[in-house]
Amino acid sequence: MINILDSQQNPRLSAPLGFGKYIAGHMAVCRYNAEHGWDTPEIIPYQSFQLDPCALVLHYGQSIYEGMKAFARKDGSIGLFRPEKNAERFRTSAARMAMAQMPCTLFLDAISQLVLKEKHLIPQSETGSLYLRPVLIGDEAAFGVRRSASYLFFTIATPVDDLYQPGNPGMRLTVTEDFSRSSQRGGGDAKTAGNYARTILALDAARAAGFDNVLWLDPVHQDWIEEAGITNFFVLTRAGTLLTPPLNGRILAGVTRDAVLQQARLWKLDIEEQEISISALVKAIEKDDIAEVFMTGTATHIAPVASLSWRGTEYVLPQEPFRQTLAGRLSQYIRDVQRGMCEDQAGWMT
Ligand code: PMP
Repeated sequence: MINILDSQQNPRLSAPLGFGKYIAGHMAVCRYNAEHGWDTPEIIPYQSFQLDPCALVLHYGQSIYEGMKAFARKDGSIGLFRPEKNAERFRTSAARMAMAQMPCTLFLDAISQLVLKEKHLIPQSETGSLYLRPVLIGDEAAFGVRRSASYLFFTIATPVDDLYQPGNPGMRLTVTEDFSRSSQRGGGDAKTAGNYARTILALDAARAAGFDNVLWLDPVHQDWIEEAGITNFFVLTRAGTLLTPPLNGRILAGVTRDAVLQQARLWKLDIEEQEISISALVKAIEKDDIAEVFMTGTATHIAPVASLSWRGTEYVLPQEPFRQTLAGRLSQYIRDVQRGMCEDQAGWMT
């Protein structure tokens, strides 16, 4: 159940915040039509929309979204983590789905206005933030597969805790060979609703079997690891090489993935963006050649992987205290930048 907050009051939020338990009382909206272009973004009370049953999004799925966070900083200011990356990715996703591309300045203006309106909801805790969910849908009422001539942009906000809390057990992932998340040139790198709808069956099966999430393989060889649930995937070998799958058009170019790579480079790690074969990885785990496996994403932050299940065998990864691992150090560093606890060398914060 979600609780819509009355923004007139200073609400008391009971811990744990979870993810999407409380929804801010305001939202940002902005409309587009092919004739007049983009309106000016507005902040309005949280409310339902009226959609025509013929709205193209309901039939043909022109729908994209983003996920980003605002943080309470040590000096009392509010920080957005790399919002321009989300603004750009929103445009890339729109382009792939033949939707109107929102100018980055308009996107950032809508987000900033909403964050300022709801700033009292930004948690002060070390792993809390205000999660922002910008969405764009094609809402023209028409029949037949074609691009919508009008679009509705909106952003809702929810105070959340990171899905992974340091100290919790690592994730148990299971490979699915029954489904693929994405196909070659199929738009797996767009953050579009259909890319998530098609994963739910596999996720349900994984959870029913007691796992936390699905490990997705490439659609052709069924051997290269693509993503873990809706996060990017990393492996650290005992020899000290950090591996992650390349941006091959099938996986999402994660903002956290990019930050991890940037920081690991500064820390002088050997980095390889290359295909990671599940068959080779499980052999390496058996030989104790793998130090860590972890996953990265805005909602999760950085989570260690405890085990990978493939073809009926669960391959267990080394368990070290999270804070002593590379994943733990990256997680803490990024958190510190987000909360203004250390210098923002890369200029990630707005
Ligand atoms: N892969 C997919 C499919 C995702 O939906 C996400 C979440 N946006 C990620 C990876 C991680 O991306 P980010 O670090 O930008 O949240």
